[in-house]
Amino acid sequence: MNPVIPPLAGAYAGDDALLTLNSGSSSLKFALFDALDESGLPHADGLQLLLSGQIDGLGGAVRFQARSADGTLDAHEQWPAASAPADAGAALRWLIDWLRRQVPGRAVVAVGHRVVHGGLHHAEPVLLTDAVVARLQALVPLAPLHQPHNLAGVAAARQAFGAVPQVACFDTAFHRHHPFVNDCFALPRRFFDAGVRRYGFHGLSYEYIAQRLAEQHAQQHAGRVVVAHLGNGASMCALQGGRSVASTMGFSALDGLPMGTRCGQIDPGVLLYLMQHEGLDADQVADLLYKQSGLKGLSGGLSHDMRTLEAAGTPEAAQAIDYFVFRIRRELGGLAAVLQGLDAVVFTGGIGENSALIRERVLEGMGWLGIRLDAARNRAGATVISSDDSPVLCLRLPTNEEGMIAQQTLRTAALGRRPAAAAPTAPAARESR
Ligand code: ADP
Repeated sequence: MNPVIPPLAGAYAGDDALLTLNSGSSSLKFALFDALDESGLPHADGLQLLLSGQIDGLGGAVRFQARSADGTLDAHEQWPAASAPADAGAALRWLIDWLRRQVPGRAVVAVGHRVVHGGLHHAEPVLLTDAVVARLQALVPLAPLHQPHNLAGVAAARQAFGAVPQVACFDTAFHRHHPFVNDCFALPRRFFDAGVRRYGFHGLSYEYIAQRLAEQHAQQHAGRVVVAHLGNGASMCALQGGRSVASTMGFSALDGLPMGTRCGQIDPGVLLYLMQHEGLDADQVADLLYKQSGLKGLSGGLSHDMRTLEAAGTPEAAQAIDYFVFRIRRELGGLAAVLQGLDAVVFTGGIGENSALIRERVLEGMGWLGIRLDAARNRAGATVISSDDSPVLCLRLPTNEEGMIAQQTLRTAALGRRPAAAAPTAPAARESR
């Protein structure tokens, strides 16, 4: 692989590759896709995942793992503290070297980045230039815990890959067409004008799910769908005709459902109380809301991880699960009201895809909404988990955010010679996350 290749000129070899990067506070996740076929056209059946993995524990005990899509490679690495990559830049340089050894002869022709916040003006992915990076930097105050790390990955990759086109793919972009009532807070008008709005997140996941619905369940896609993305981060989205019209997440990734360590919806009066009477400063409140709350907080510090809570059997773990389920059911009712009815419900994300218990508890007793769960299908992890006579179709669909980034990158970097109308869709989803 040659990371410094000239800018795109229109025709590419079959061994070109597209790299996606998701740079977080202590991890660098990546996926490498076969970008184009031998004749320089996007693969007719979508981008092909070659391998994916992550470097995590940056700043501490750093580990690396990667797997090839065909199962022939399962690589692991661990560093002694003194020689471990210390930041996103060092991790990326190591990764480029590793890729060069693993997939010799492949050139990265475009890099796609997950960037949490695109602000008011990015409803689409965008080619990264100095001016765009400066604009995204100005959004750091809107997502202080994620955006700086995303942009550290962008900076490292722009340095490492020279003129290779790089694309920012946003978690907020898919939600940028919300109607006013789902975009505002009831604050004085100037805050709305200054960008204090309900941005919504997990947009890459929702767009991927909307695409799968369009392909596999066209009737429901054209109608009213609620998607529950339930992972360490969790939110729900109302889709009308495949477009997002409401999200449970708001200005930050804190609002809506309780999450692994984030609180979800909270009365702002609680924050005033914590600051005025418990003496917490802004950093302490941020730490509390982002890192000590949610499932972890409610389970008495036991765990943020749903698998652990399901297995624990303690009263606190049970209550944490109860609250998680309660909030999802409540939001489901609310979003169905926004949509004025419901044609489908989709579960995705690590919990949504893998926990039959959570899906069952969310959907049981929802006959009033037209939902009839097929318990056996649900337990078996089928794609369709509702009964054949259920007015509302209930689905379990694995998401694929990397695939969505790759697809957006291919489109935005204008790779290949096929007209845009025939652009490929994202590759098939990974089975578990
Ligand atoms: P992230 O938001 O970090 O991408 P994931 O989408 O990978 O997170 O979801 C992680 C969550 O999924 C964890 O709470 C984990 O316990 C949960 N999970 C994964 N597999 C299962 C399972 N079989 N049963 C219950 N929960 C699961």
